[in-house]
Amino acid sequence: MEVTLCDVGPRDGLQNEPGEYPPATRADLINRLAATGLSRIEAVSFVRDDRVPAMAGAEEVVERIERRGGVEYAGLVLNRRGWERFAASGLDRVDVTFGATESFNRANGNMSLAEAVANAEAILTAGGEYPHSVTISVCFGCPFEGRVDPGVVVELAARFAGRAEVVLADTIGVATPSAVRALVAQSGATGFHGHNTRNTGYANCLAAVEAGARVLDASIGGLGGCPYAPRATGNVATEDLVYLLEGEGVATGIDLDALVTVSEWLEALLGRRLEGYLYRAGAWPSS
Ligand code: ZN
Repeated sequence: MEVTLCDVGPRDGLQNEPGEYPPATRADLINRLAATGLSRIEAVSFVRDDRVPAMAGAEEVVERIERRGGVEYAGLVLNRRGWERFAASGLDRVDVTFGATESFNRANGNMSLAEAVANAEAILTAGGEYPHSVTISVCFGCPFEGRVDPGVVVELAARFAGRAEVVLADTIGVATPSAVRALVAQSGATGFHGHNTRNTGYANCLAAVEAGARVLDASIGGLGGCPYAPRATGNVATEDLVYLLEGEGVATGIDLDALVTVSEWLEALLGRRLEGYLYRAGAWPSS
């Protein structure tokens, strides 16, 4: 069995880190990740520079990417203007996102749930032939509304199934494996975006694969905090997930030692210990 890992460190990761990193540094991270055998990287977000300074200069980041065969470079698009910037950039995959609840969409994009779904559909329509990933945030729990009705998520996923890869996100890291297994199976989602906020992220990723997901999001070193729990961990660490999956007989195509080298570089860049465990312990058996 094989899964595609998408490293979201350069986008979801750095956007949720304190501090801002210039386009040259973000491109450096992308190029280092691409050299490890990762087949997909969420590289940039086409947002207004003044709204999200951490993601400013998306075009400059893209210009500095040393494109590698076999690597898909994705960009997050939130609206029509973002779509135009994506189309001009030459990136490969459009990432679209909205939340599963009214309050989450209100807080994030000042839209109702219906408006957020319509916005995502409009981006897909504009995007035509590009491959798309539609990430549904807060599928398992919402910081404003608490538990989320799985039936709602199943309905939302059905609207995009067949037109896009549907990714279920545990944005605030509250899910446990049985819930992930059930919702991935019921929704037919092909992707899962787990957070390790409550230390269930890796078990949840494995449950998602068992239920049929073939794309997992993760972030080098666990880069990126949890936007709704400032002191907590966000994304699962790519290298820890690779170790887990490969040990369970799930191929990722990633060179774990190469990935650890990137984590060590990142630790020096950020000047702090990363959330991931494996880069400190080392792979086993070591090569
Ligand atoms: Zn995330």
